[in-house]
Amino acid sequence: MELIFEKSQPGRQATTIPACDVPQKKVSIPATLLRDGVGLPEVAEVDLMRHYTSLSRRNFGVDSGMYPLGSCTMKYNPKVNENAAKLSGFTDIHPYAPEEWTQGNLRMMFELRAYLSEILGMADFTLQPAAGAHGELTGNMVMKKYFEKKGEKRTKMFVPDAAHGTNPASTALSGCEIITVRSNAEGGVDLDHLKELMADDVVGLMLTNPNTVGLFERNIEQVISIVHARGGLCYCDGANTNAFMGVNRPGDLGFDVIQLNLHKSFSTPHGCGGPGSGPVGVAKHLVDFLPYPRVIKTGEKYSFDFDCPDSIGRVKAFYGNFNVMVKAYAYIRSLGAAGLRRASENAVLNANYVMAKLKNHYQVAFDRICMHECVFTGDKQVRESGVHTADIAKRLLDYGYHPPTIYFPSIVSEALMIEPNETESMETLDAFCDTMIKIAGEAKDNPKLLHDAPITTPVSRMDDVKAAREPNICWKC
Ligand SMILES: *Cc1c(COP(=O)(O)O)cnc(C)c1O
Repeated sequence: MELIFEKSQPGRQATTIPACDVPQKKVSIPATLLRDGVGLPEVAEVDLMRHYTSLSRRNFGVDSGMYPLGSCTMKYNPKVNENAAKLSGFTDIHPYAPEEWTQGNLRMMFELRAYLSEILGMADFTLQPAAGAHGELTGNMVMKKYFEKKGEKRTKMFVPDAAHGTNPASTALSGCEIITVRSNAEGGVDLDHLKELMADDVVGLMLTNPNTVGLFERNIEQVISIVHARGGLCYCDGANTNAFMGVNRPGDLGFDVIQLNLHKSFSTPHGCGGPGSGPVGVAKHLVDFLPYPRVIKTGEKYSFDFDCPDSIGRVKAFYGNFNVMVKAYAYIRSLGAAGLRRASENAVLNANYVMAKLKNHYQVAFDRICMHECVFTGDKQVRESGVHTADIAKRLLDYGYHPPTIYFPSIVSEALMIEPNETESMETLDAFCDTMIKIAGEAKDNPKLLHDAPITTPVSRMDDVKAAREPNICWKC
């Protein structure tokens, strides 16, 4: 495809400027600011439009096809929630506007906190953190502050090896020492290892649940009681709440802290680093340590409470990513309790459907009921025909699918992780599975084809290392 620069014709332009109807004046621009021959493309409006429209068609998103990226929840989000976020009362307001003008906005935040607390079984939430990892850091800071206030010196954090990669990162950022807890053969926390490691200087344990192999931690109550018995706290990485909304409440299981990803489970599309929101919920004994200001309700009036002496402080300018909160609020209100539960049930059903259909063609990593995503290992294909998981993923591109997550989680060799999510129909899942099965056949019969894939995309197989180290981004080179 031609670059816009290559379509350029001297003197052609996309806009028509009316003749000047005021006296013209000469201004002198300093020579250093004068730009001669910057080489901006000169094209007509229609060429401009066609160029960018055809580029946009090469982009892949949930609006163009199934996006089974595991650990990411790339689901379709109702567009109607964008309308709610666009309401002028939500957008045309300044964070410093007086509280009398922003009662509706404050009420939305107050009620969203209450809904999330109810759904997750926590005492309260902060809406300030801007992403999942940011929520993890906030949760870590809250836990540390709790022990500081109690006068206990604790410096270690348990992070199981099946945790999301951001868990050790945010633990390190909060200044805690990371202690890795092993997984057992069925993909859960190894209880014996945990018991052996547990000590009085442990802040707590960060448990990704469902974990990164898409499994619900079966021994969750034992895990929590081992940590609680020595005064530690339990943190739930709840980024993938879409697996259990309305079915299970982490607060009831005994978790002290949880972070959510509104941009995964609660109706904000994500990708491209767009705005996210990682609210943090806590049990009663940790409420005072949450970031301030907090929205409170006195009689019928909503206001900000800055009088929070034990708070860890602010973690974000103003109140967090407000417009993501509006979408989550609209999503919860429109689905209702029964709808949220159904969304989770369908997410789990869809993942198990895909796992069952592909099981005879790809080796499953852990052969048990999964949650919202299923994990395979490409070991069988490597053994039989030298085809790697990356080759399978590249071949999917030829069939018009965004590939699933590969080589993650790292505890599974040649991992292939599929999250169909709740918004895909059975027909779409069938078509995807048929394609995966076809590729498994190709791997056997024609491994070379897979090594060369993709062959129908605008850019064929890249040298990954060269592409990252020596990117060719200059149109003239
Ligand atoms: C996505 C994800 C995160 C990180 O969330 P960000 O918003 O990208 O920071 C953390 N934990 C789990 C389990 C996740 O799936």
